[in-house]
Amino acid sequence: MPVIKPTCVRDLKLRVNLADVVSRMVTLRKAGGARLKGLCPFHNEKTPSFNVDPDKGFYKCFGCGKAGDAITFVRETEQLNFTEAVEALGKRFGIVIEYEEGSGGPSSADRTLRQEVFDLHDAAAEHFYQAFKAKDATGEYFRKYWTEKRRFTPELADEFKIGAVDAQGSGLGAALLRRKFSEEALRRCGLFFIYDDAAITLHALRSRFRGRLMIPIRDHQGRVCAFTARQTELTPDDDPAKDAKYVNSPETPVFTKGNLLFNLDRARSNVGEGRPFVMVEGQLDALRCWSVGLKTAIAPQGTSITESQLVLLRRYHTQVECFFDSDSAGQKAALRFLPMALKAGLEIRFLTLAGAEKIDPDLLFLERGLAAYDEVRRAAQSAMAFACRAALPEPAGASPELKTRAAQTVYEIIAAAESEVARAGFIAEAASHLRLPVAAAQKDFQTYLARLSRQAAARPEIAPVAPPTTSSAHTPEHHLLLLCLHFEPLGKPLGATLPHDWIDVGHAAGVLLNRFLGEFEHDSWPGRDHLDTLLETPEERALVATLLFETPVIDDPAKVAVEGLRQLRARSLEPRLRQIELALANPHADSESDPISLLKERSEIHRQLRLPITLTINL
Ligand code: ZN
Repeated sequence: MPVIKPTCVRDLKLRVNLADVVSRMVTLRKAGGARLKGLCPFHNEKTPSFNVDPDKGFYKCFGCGKAGDAITFVRETEQLNFTEAVEALGKRFGIVIEYEEGSGGPSSADRTLRQEVFDLHDAAAEHFYQAFKAKDATGEYFRKYWTEKRRFTPELADEFKIGAVDAQGSGLGAALLRRKFSEEALRRCGLFFIYDDAAITLHALRSRFRGRLMIPIRDHQGRVCAFTARQTELTPDDDPAKDAKYVNSPETPVFTKGNLLFNLDRARSNVGEGRPFVMVEGQLDALRCWSVGLKTAIAPQGTSITESQLVLLRRYHTQVECFFDSDSAGQKAALRFLPMALKAGLEIRFLTLAGAEKIDPDLLFLERGLAAYDEVRRAAQSAMAFACRAALPEPAGASPELKTRAAQTVYEIIAAAESEVARAGFIAEAASHLRLPVAAAQKDFQTYLARLSRQAAARPEIAPVAPPTTSSAHTPEHHLLLLCLHFEPLGKPLGATLPHDWIDVGHAAGVLLNRFLGEFEHDSWPGRDHLDTLLETPEERALVATLLFETPVIDDPAKVAVEGLRQLRARSLEPRLRQIELALANPHADSESDPISLLKERSEIHRQLRLPITLTINL
């Protein structure tokens, strides 16, 4: 097990700006003082409650309670272990990682499977790319296919690392075996067909992708996690998916189709005011947009768009323009997409071309470049205009029955929006498109909602989960812990004064107070910014982060500490006092207790409770 030197971890935390780490995933805005705020990456929310304090190096979500530092953030968002997270940060910020002697350096044996599968995809992408560039028949065929058939530039292929694989799919297995990837990683990377019980040999690794153009799929952090493979003339007849134009990697430890949007890693840094996301249908459409200078295009992975993709999108920008093929499949996809988008709180517009019967975004941008974007934007339709036109193309001559049916379809979409204000606006707009009186539409919509909630009530409800209790928040341990963290000179005298058996270690605050005071007593307190090694569980890390986030206004911390000690003392001594009182009141109930010794013990406890508590602080 490689062990990173604690001094190196300390150094890394000082040099890494937490805001830089977090902003790879969360758009942060100023929130007073040095603090920043954004939408929490750990739970779904619409108003930001995720707070980052770059000065202290801590983040905390006041919605779901997640908290931590740069290392915990990387661990949790990228699912890495501690060592991997430190290594990843080191790589990102150009900090050399030093290891304890004899513990071994970064070794392949200790990488988690996920990390290894990412590394494997990196190696595979490079392998496919080299095959695309190779000065042989395969390379030549694919370069020609790219530039002549798809009409893309060689530069774009370099930028996105477009790759190729020959009809035999040869070479990849050997290359990966040479790199010594583990059997588990080779079995689960999705690039091969392998019989379950087959030993991993070169022969057993049968390529999933053969004779296809390889497009690397990156997650929103830019890591290659899958491939989309485009059919070509070289695709062999015995390809199990011979007729499929596009074949995607299957789901693997690093790839969940529904969580991924193609090109989001690049598009997210190009969106902003007046530069919304542009959702297109396929990866090659998104590449076409990029090639003409429209840098905010993204594409779902496969045909369906999922809620989690939209939640991911919303973290970066709320405005999305949809540009789907004008064929019926494209229109259906758009209608399925709309309710999810309204639910996620996205502002949707549909790009169309005035007077055009059929639009293919790829062809349009290829022929007309970025100028075409301005034109389709001018003819863009609002979400409601689009939905109404799809439900009822010609409202003018439509019968009341047709209008009613169309309105129902539109109500279903509107009901997905969570804001009442938004719904009211949509109803008014839809009524005008469908040529219905607004008041009637509003009434019908309310009837529709009432029916919906009756149906929902008929289904058994699952009891809502109770919010996590903050049981230890008002204990003396909690207050003393807060003092230790914000007034560190108090720690040593507190440790010397407070008997450990007064502390209730039944909750995290007590456990930590006990542990921290021990460190103070032994002069081994690492300082509040270097508590990693002292924190053992996520609960402990969250608690410390929460406490560090507070800015307690305390005039006389020593006085507050003394009050905490007094409470702990009372709490630990008073139960015995009550027992004694009870025994004295019922002399026969407990024959063993001798009233004289009970009286003595009682006065001793009273004496202890009256003893003054003093803390000597050397500032
Ligand atoms: Zn949260």
